[in-house]
Amino acid sequence: MVTNTCKGCGKCCSYITIQLDNPERKHDWDALFWYLYHEKVKVYIDHEDDWYVEFETRCKCLNEDNGCTIYNKRPIVCGEHNPKECENNGMKESPYKKVFTDVEELRKYLEENNINYQFRKRMK
Ligand code: SF4
Ligand code: SF4
Repeated sequence: MVTNTCKGCGKCCSYITIQLDNPERKHDWDALFWYLYHEKVKVYIDHEDDWYVEFETRCKCLNEDNGCTIYNKRPIVCGEHNPKECENNGMKESPYKKVFTDVEELRKYLEENNINYQFRKRMK
């Protein structure tokens, strides 16, 4: 729903984020690489050092005018979004403390932090 505060850009309805277990084991790091090999996927660390994966994907309930077609039944998380501090309206700070948009950025992070992650050798 477009309010006086909301500019109706639809940006907040065009992605989803899922919190991850903080990566510790090889399998965890491997999963992050897997996410980042995909298009329109980011991995990020927030300001509380929690890890998330973010998928750029438009909600099916968003109409052409960027209005919510299920406004009265929308998920709780949608109702909790504050348009006064949203992505397009004076957000105080980026949610990202560190963001990875491709595998090279993650590889660099591992090197800089001396995290010993060995890539699996390809079997012939
Ligand atoms: S990102 Fe902000 S301005 Fe854009 S639709 Fe969402 S609440 Fe409205
Ligand atoms: S359910 Fe409605 S408010 Fe929630 S993401 Fe979809 S369009 Fe936006």
